[in-house]
Amino acid sequence: MMHLRIRSRFKRVLGPAIGLVFLIAATGICAAQAKSTARKFGPSNPFYAPSALPFQATPFDKIKDSDYQAAIDEGMAQQLAEAEAIANNPAPPTFENTMVALERSGLLLDRAWNAFNCVTQANLDPELEKVQAYEAPRIAAHEDAISLNTKLFARIKAIYDERASLSLDAESLRLVEYDYQEFVKAGANLESSDKDKLKKLDEEESTLENTFMTKLLDATTAGAYSTTDPMTLAGLSGGQKAAAAEEAKAHKQQGWLLPLQNTTQQPDLSSLSDRETRKKIFEHSWNRAERGDANDTRSTIARLAQLRAEKAALLGYPNYAAWNLTDQMAKTPEAAIHFLDAMVPATTAKAAREAKEIQGLDDFRGGDSIPNPADWEFYAEQVRKAKYDYDQAQVKPYFELNTVLKDGVFYAAHELYGLTFKERKDIPVWQADVRVFEVSEADGKPLALWYCDYFKRDNKNGGAWEDSLVGQSKLLNTLPVVYNVANFEKPAAGRPALLSFDDVTTMFHEFGHALHAMFANTQYPGLSGTSVPRDFVEFPSQFNEHWASYPTVFAHYARHYKTGEPMPADLAAKIVKAKTFNQGYEFTEILAASELDLEWHTLPASAPLQDPDKFEQEALKRTHLSVSYVPPRYRSSYFLHIWQEGYQAGYYAYTWSEMLDDDAFQWFEDHGGMTRENGDRFRRMVLSRGNTEDLEKMYDAWLGGKPSIEPMLKDRGLKETAQ
Ligand SMILES: [Zn+2]
Repeated sequence: MMHLRIRSRFKRVLGPAIGLVFLIAATGICAAQAKSTARKFGPSNPFYAPSALPFQATPFDKIKDSDYQAAIDEGMAQQLAEAEAIANNPAPPTFENTMVALERSGLLLDRAWNAFNCVTQANLDPELEKVQAYEAPRIAAHEDAISLNTKLFARIKAIYDERASLSLDAESLRLVEYDYQEFVKAGANLESSDKDKLKKLDEEESTLENTFMTKLLDATTAGAYSTTDPMTLAGLSGGQKAAAAEEAKAHKQQGWLLPLQNTTQQPDLSSLSDRETRKKIFEHSWNRAERGDANDTRSTIARLAQLRAEKAALLGYPNYAAWNLTDQMAKTPEAAIHFLDAMVPATTAKAAREAKEIQGLDDFRGGDSIPNPADWEFYAEQVRKAKYDYDQAQVKPYFELNTVLKDGVFYAAHELYGLTFKERKDIPVWQADVRVFEVSEADGKPLALWYCDYFKRDNKNGGAWEDSLVGQSKLLNTLPVVYNVANFEKPAAGRPALLSFDDVTTMFHEFGHALHAMFANTQYPGLSGTSVPRDFVEFPSQFNEHWASYPTVFAHYARHYKTGEPMPADLAAKIVKAKTFNQGYEFTEILAASELDLEWHTLPASAPLQDPDKFEQEALKRTHLSVSYVPPRYRSSYFLHIWQEGYQAGYYAYTWSEMLDDDAFQWFEDHGGMTRENGDRFRRMVLSRGNTEDLEKMYDAWLGGKPSIEPMLKDRGLKETAQ
């Protein structure tokens, strides 16, 4: 749920991307060309100098849309000149004149880009959209120009080779090793003929990824369920039917249209009571990209998997996952696979118990002895209604946004870390709904500025995220300026904003990312705060979610907005219990997709081109996830995360982070729960450390051992006995 900026010194990304994907292919537009078309940049531009506002907060009151492009273009030109000067320095390479100089480069670009990224995600308008389209290829080319600078790499390599004799402190050593690793990962060490080969493979990969995306979009559109017979839609609510009629109209069709979602299971299957309709929709979903027509993705993904294996071989690795995981906490595919394998028995056993529960329903019929995946959601919904249901209308009056924020989110941060929060009305914001708080330490020392932009707007991206306007760095003498964005329903003027428990959880989650950024206490901006690998980045945020249902915190904020009465205990218990509904099924789906991803990306370069269906069946059997009633969350032929979205060999990361957050929370439970002592220790040893040391070592040192999967299995309700 987070939009993460990749390491601020080298890598910036447009839009909702997470990850450390080093681009190798230059896109052919250099920053020098871009500069000529930009507006003149001068002292009247609000990004010209560091902001004079408290915490160097972005002067949104002074920034006009037309200021961004000039500042970004000039920022790229400046950073490129800085990088060139470092690369061409006649003095021999030193830590100061190379590594530190790089960390100090690009300050103007940071200021402008961070603000631009904020407004394009949260408050877009047509002019910003134009700038975004203009800058996207330029920023990619700019990043390549730095990460592919061979003279620059030669200096970093010289420092890396000498690092043992440089008497560097631990963080500086980490900076050398990490930057070196990232350059090498991108192919900096290759001979020039191999660099050409890599470039060709990258180009082919990028073309195939685009082909996959185009085919899948068309296949998904074509897979919509269309009908003119209202009887086939029995079970849908009036609202769902109206939406389906709207969809049909938008596609100039008669009757009703149910579009396909990107997952195997389709949400409407839980309410559609006609078995034939369910069967058809499920078939549409499952075979969407395997119809032997122009939208069939199988040949594309087979070649993509092969090509990625070839790329890894060129870079000196046995397979793609081995290459891609070098800078992750897991480090090796073996570690990730071992982790997933260990959860399969308990998870599939729970799914089997859920299947039994479904078989026991009075309504279960159809001549099957076990549920068919097409029927699963429909029957599971009956189980949910009988055992896990609660009424949102009954719950929401206890979750008023302001009370949740101050007596929940802030309260937990105060109890754990001693933080206090004071609203500031004098700091400029990007939109009138945005609020700003100054965050202070227990001793009153200023820590950070934190903004929240919680209400839905038409010009805002969906979902929720965290990001920074100013990153923490002792080198640059900056304190963090951090924001959270969400999409909660905005109440009418004068009415309270009442939330669902999902919304409450989102607030705690995004605030967890914010704490990770605000507690950052590092020298170098490139290693600061949330600049951590993908299999670690969701750990602090998911960890913070636990406090939403922690009894003393929950009791403190879950009070009726009119009467101030606490939520009745039975209602509160239902909310907690609901989290474990259908988890055997859902987690089996996720494990199957995660294992499939790693199976595809551990193929060696010598393996022949695969038949995707055969490969998938065998992979699921091999990993003990060939369960007739639980197909993978994504079939290989429509697994967008791994074929186009940059999550290849990385889908496991969601679950890995979840292991860490449940395990960490268990540590708190075992050591006296919510105390300042526990909070401060966690902050000192983990939350403040960013990427300044090996993350596995960091975690193990804090825990005093290795993380365990047991708390996650317990939290998901996978370990209870059959009931
Ligand atoms: Zn997140």
